[in-house]
Amino acid sequence: MKCKSVEELQQFVDEAKIYAKFGKVADYIPALGKANPNDLSVAIYYPDGTVVYAGDSKRKVTLQSISKIISLALVLMERGEKDVFEKVGMEPTGDPFNSIAKLEETAPVKPLNPMINAGALVVTHLIRGNSPEERIHKLLAFVKSLTGNPNITYSEEVAKSEFNTAYLNRSLCYFLKQHGIIAENVEEVLDVYTKQCAIEMTCLDLARIGLVFAMDGVDPLTSKRIMPLRIARICKTFMVTCGMYNASGEFAIKVGIPAKSGVSGGILGAVPGRFGIGIFGPALDEKGNSITGIKLLELLSEKYSLSMF
Ligand code: GLN
Repeated sequence: MKCKSVEELQQFVDEAKIYAKFGKVADYIPALGKANPNDLSVAIYYPDGTVVYAGDSKRKVTLQSISKIISLALVLMERGEKDVFEKVGMEPTGDPFNSIAKLEETAPVKPLNPMINAGALVVTHLIRGNSPEERIHKLLAFVKSLTGNPNITYSEEVAKSEFNTAYLNRSLCYFLKQHGIIAENVEEVLDVYTKQCAIEMTCLDLARIGLVFAMDGVDPLTSKRIMPLRIARICKTFMVTCGMYNASGEFAIKVGIPAKSGVSGGILGAVPGRFGIGIFGPALDEKGNSITGIKLLELLSEKYSLSMF
């Protein structure tokens, strides 16, 4: 069963929007604090090219942590599994996404997974290139191929706002550098990372990326393989086990699809073999996930039996 009409989708959006009042917009990155907590937009992209969307589908929002799944896919393609998983683990954590606690407990030091900030910073540092500019452009080129949208770029304002205030991420980097996990200049890692997190797009672009993952790495609209099957599977597995931070278990039970969230309120969903979904709802719950976005996915999952379990 699939959602065919805007009206049908809009009803779910209206129901989910009620929950915005229980959430809060992220403001530890000052530029994100300007978002309207009552916004909620969603797009569903089917393999035949049909798109159903509701809400302000033209609004561009930054990816934030959603970008971690994209940088991971790129780095796995560039370096292979062995090199990447030597430096970052595969296990979920019950700690918040920006926690430093577990880093002290692993010997040798190794971030638990690539979806928490410590792991994502290691992954970003592994993107090959001679300069931060070259590396962010490589990542952007990959995002353009995933979305089929040549105009994708990053928000200078959001990138700068995060770069200027990223004290915690700087601490994580310095800790990782001290222990020989990050080899390069910390400011350069942060430059690429904050630009990566500030890549912006509409919920339609986001849904199109979800569709590529849903179809195991192939863009069904062009029949082009964007990433190897194995890498699409690794990314989807991380989306299930770690994609919603330390709320991934509950999300797996209540929604049951591979998904990745970001503190901008975005959620990228991939319903295996069926469709991609992109959501932007900036009001966040206490774990840093879109409160309206999760509610919307719960409603859609129940109505269209989306759970893969
Ligand atoms: N750029 C954000 C940070 O590093 C991303 C975090 C997130 O979306 N959870 O804090």
